[in-house]
Amino acid sequence: MTSGYVYRTAEDAEAAFKGDVKRFIYSRYANPTVAMLEERLTLLEGAEACRTTASGMAAVFASMACFLKAGDYVVASRALFGSCLYIITDILPRLGVETKVVDGCNLDEWEAALDRPTACVFLETPTNPLLEIIDLPAVSKLAHAQGATVIVDNVFSTPMLQRPMELGADIVVYSATKHIDGQGRAMGGAILCKQQFIDDHLNQFMRHTGPSISPFNAWIFLKGLETLDIRVRQACENALQIANFLSDQSGMNRVLYPGLPSHPQYALAQKQMSGSGTMVTFELAGGKTEAFKFLNALEIVDISNNLGDTKSLVTHPATTTHQRLSDEERAALGLNDGVVRLSVGLEDPNDLCDDLAQALAAARS
Ligand SMILES: *Cc1c(COP(=O)(O)O)cnc(C)c1O
Repeated sequence: MTSGYVYRTAEDAEAAFKGDVKRFIYSRYANPTVAMLEERLTLLEGAEACRTTASGMAAVFASMACFLKAGDYVVASRALFGSCLYIITDILPRLGVETKVVDGCNLDEWEAALDRPTACVFLETPTNPLLEIIDLPAVSKLAHAQGATVIVDNVFSTPMLQRPMELGADIVVYSATKHIDGQGRAMGGAILCKQQFIDDHLNQFMRHTGPSISPFNAWIFLKGLETLDIRVRQACENALQIANFLSDQSGMNRVLYPGLPSHPQYALAQKQMSGSGTMVTFELAGGKTEAFKFLNALEIVDISNNLGDTKSLVTHPATTTHQRLSDEERAALGLNDGVVRLSVGLEDPNDLCDDLAQALAAARS
């Protein structure tokens, strides 16, 4: 924990500022604890380099704002984390960047949108909350043909389950707030990329706009990384058991989990992910009334819009994370009032199934 650094001599300070000596100057630029986190995330992802940020959104915004300029063209998938969609549809256009959103699962829509030189393609897979899978190699190929830098928000997959760079992506971004911490303690984010991208764009942007992570939070994430693999693997196992359990319940319009053979893109998920994730989404036949009764009756699972935690968390996307969207936009995503999103944690999965069962019964009484 430190904000600044001390120089032995005035000459040392001059050399550091001239760039003749590589050393720590100020923690907005770099910090040893933060550097350790960035090095480990780099190795985990199989990337060349990493910069960490104060939140996932700071990572998403910096990854685009550091190189986009007025007149550029950006294509993104429509099913994005709410704040990512806001950057694409509100902030970037205000700065003179033309943007277009497409149905990420429809390659024809990607191809039609990528009809001219494109600066950036941004997407998330699996998507929030309906867990659709986007074909990373196919979209990357179309994007690269127009010169685009492909940025993948890999939060729902975690570094353990999907390696977008091996599938064609140029940049991977994370909210470390989610699985990397995984214990609901700290906010943070990460950008994984080529060293060249940092040298050409990110370094100066981060130095001068200041989305830097606290060294204390970096230390928390370093502790989180030590158990990331074992936590994610167990949560995936629990999620599959819960998805199977929910599939057997009556009054369920659909159960979405990339590890269920009934998932519309099961084959693609099996191909590009090494595990099916920690999120399960399902649609209750009784709409908002039944969904609210169900959430309120849960005893082990907490109501929270957070995810990727050791505690199982449930949310009703239509009235919370996706409330800002119009009815038409929600309809375009296939997100209706019966949809419930469950972030599966590390509790005993049998206890979780019992809790879900009693809450389903209560919701129907
Ligand atoms: C949470 C989340 C973010 C934003 O991260 P914060 O740490 O909350 O700023 C971005 N993308 C996805 C998919 C997320 O789940």
